[in-house]
Amino acid sequence: MIPTIKRIGVLTSGGDAPGMNAVIRAVTRTAIKHGISVIGVRRGFNGLIHEDMSELNIRSVSDIIQRGGTVLYTARCNEFRYEEGLQRGKEACQSWGIEGLVVIGGDGSFRGAADLSARGIPCVGIPGTIDNDIAMTEYTIGYDTAMNTAMELVDKLRDTTQSHDRCSVVEVMGRNAGYIALNTGIACGATYIVVKEVNFSIDDIIARILNTQTTGKHHFIIVVAEGMGNCEDIAKKIEHATKIEARATILGHVQRGGSPTVQDRVIGSHMGHYAVELLAQGIGNRVVGMKKGEMIDVDIQEALRMKKTFSQELYRVASNISF
Ligand code: ATP
Repeated sequence: MIPTIKRIGVLTSGGDAPGMNAVIRAVTRTAIKHGISVIGVRRGFNGLIHEDMSELNIRSVSDIIQRGGTVLYTARCNEFRYEEGLQRGKEACQSWGIEGLVVIGGDGSFRGAADLSARGIPCVGIPGTIDNDIAMTEYTIGYDTAMNTAMELVDKLRDTTQSHDRCSVVEVMGRNAGYIALNTGIACGATYIVVKEVNFSIDDIIARILNTQTTGKHHFIIVVAEGMGNCEDIAKKIEHATKIEARATILGHVQRGGSPTVQDRVIGSHMGHYAVELLAQGIGNRVVGMKKGEMIDVDIQEALRMKKTFSQELYRVASNISF
């Protein structure tokens, strides 16, 4: 392939996710392989606006594939939502010779990428978010690591919950998307999983606990997706109604960290490679994703319009095996 461009930029934006470093590494090395130089932009779109960026080489992305977080740092950048900020970003790209940009982040970051593409800097988005809440792809970078971290933590919680015949109400991340909760709940044998995609009531949770208790079970895990209510309140109501000691635990930001899993490293590498090969052909305004195990790319605006479907079938599986 003879690339049509000479230099690209790469940035991470929005919330960090394990595996972002694998993407940065693959982007850098693929570009260099094609004779394209790479500028690493720090702290999301802020780095463009404030020209906080520097050239990456093969060795500057060594020893990062196994590390969580992002070596380019990440941030939200409100200025980029407005014309002045976008113009400054465009001018910075022009003065640094950046002819294409890889944007690793969530749907907010893709809006910025679409806006910059519309102003003449072709951008390709890569879904980097632990939430797996991007409709055009079956997989987002960081999701597998976050689920495995949540699973390990709930397993630990289960040991103490079981020893004390307690009920643990545990909040996992997902920011209004129930995928981490559903999978962690199944993987950890939760008695009930609370997600926004499925109607629930406290009475329903209590009934499930009491019903399960009659089968001889004495400890219970209730997994609650972030944004579905206060775990302390839920625990208090359960304790009041069942007389089972109930404790609330919020796993929080620990789920964002840690060494990425094989899946996050491999898919991250593949997506990074794919994104550069698009830009090298002069193709921008696309988001890279995975469908049925294959890499795909979709127009950014179209990707933003798509609605993610929740697996009601998997939730039904969870409900049917949760006693
Ligand atoms: P996460 O899913 O981890 O929250 P995200 O990419 O959705 O990631 P946001 O905070 O929504 O996170 O967006 C990240 C950044 O993208 C914003 O701080 C801003 O710089 C840029 N951005 C968001 N929306 C727009 C928009 N409408 N126009 C231009 N830029 C935007």
